[in-house]
Amino acid sequence: MTHSSSQDTLARWASAQRIAPLPARDGAAPPAISFEFFPPKTPALEAQLWACIGRLAVLRPAFVSVTYGAGGSTQERTHATVLRIMRETQLTPAAHLTCVNAPRAAVDEVARHYWAAGVRHIVALRGDPPGGAAYAPHPQGYAFAADLVAGLKRIADFEITVAAYPETHPEAASPEADLDNLKRKLDAGASRAISQVFFDNAVFLRFLDRARAAGITAPIVPGIMPVTNFAQAQKFCAACGTSMPHWMADMFDGLDDDAETRRMVAAAMAAEQVRLLQANGIDEFHFYTLNRPDLTYAIARILGVKPAAEAG
Ligand SMILES: Cc1cc2nc3c(=O)[nH]c(=O)nc-3n(C[C@H](O)[C@H](O)[C@H](O)COP(=O)(O)OP(=O)(O)OC[C@H]3O[C@@H](n4cnc5c(N)ncnc54)[C@H](O)[C@@H]3O)c2cc1C
Repeated sequence: MTHSSSQDTLARWASAQRIAPLPARDGAAPPAISFEFFPPKTPALEAQLWACIGRLAVLRPAFVSVTYGAGGSTQERTHATVLRIMRETQLTPAAHLTCVNAPRAAVDEVARHYWAAGVRHIVALRGDPPGGAAYAPHPQGYAFAADLVAGLKRIADFEITVAAYPETHPEAASPEADLDNLKRKLDAGASRAISQVFFDNAVFLRFLDRARAAGITAPIVPGIMPVTNFAQAQKFCAACGTSMPHWMADMFDGLDDDAETRRMVAAAMAAEQVRLLQANGIDEFHFYTLNRPDLTYAIARILGVKPAAEAG
């Protein structure tokens, strides 16, 4: 490179737009966080889950939720995992429960068991049929999540969380109809929504504006998924209507055989996402952990959440 061209470079850098740094967190309270786990299928996955819970428990999440497999396929494993969390940890479990493929009486029975066991928080969902089939309500079932919320409230005074879709649920008649549905779920007794995974913060923040304009006041907590396996995330996102920005594909391009770099890229990407949301005033975060603790742990630290022993 010639002398004159490096002078030009510096002139170009010096005249570039200066972007303000993210605000320092000095003195700000750490955000409330929560974690999602899935119920394990094998003894090895069970050991992985419990190691994950052990690692993340010290961050004192507001609650930890356990998913319900497609079509209610994990009913027993979800139940067992939630009850073990109750028995063996100080954590507050939230049990996911769906309407799909079950009569109301069976769903109610599961809910009554939870209440009797001391479980007070349910994540109430419609659910999806297994194998990508089209959804049809069970003839004697709860048709939609709003019906399930109302049914649960009739059983007991559960704390209820529901799902929200910043990019609109794929089966919704329109974004407005989907927002009306979210409002119905909250009006039926839910006190919080957790968002479907998203990667474009602008989409999420605009969704919050639309929700406010529609009269929604309950928190819509961003669902954060640190992505290390881009190909797998692409499949998942295509099915649930989450768009993946092209810059994400670029960042993972060529890293298929380089797991270590993928993890570093994933951590940096998720850290940037949550820091920007935090700078925009969001102070609750839900992490889709996929039963792997490390990225979630690091990102929670970046947000200012410290393990119990270190927190002042
Ligand atoms: C945070 C979170 C956690 C999840 N956990 C699980 C889980 O553990 N297990 C699982 O199987 N799935 C889970 N899912 C996926 C969820 O089950 C699917 O996205 C499902 O397709 C929709 O569930 P819902 O509760 O949002 O449904 P609903 O709120 O019932 O909405 C479903 C669709 O129906 C439309 N709709 C609602 N009411 C009506 C009506 N009266 N007439 C016509 N249309 C209507 C809505 O606009 C929407 O398009 C989760 C999703 C999220 C975001």
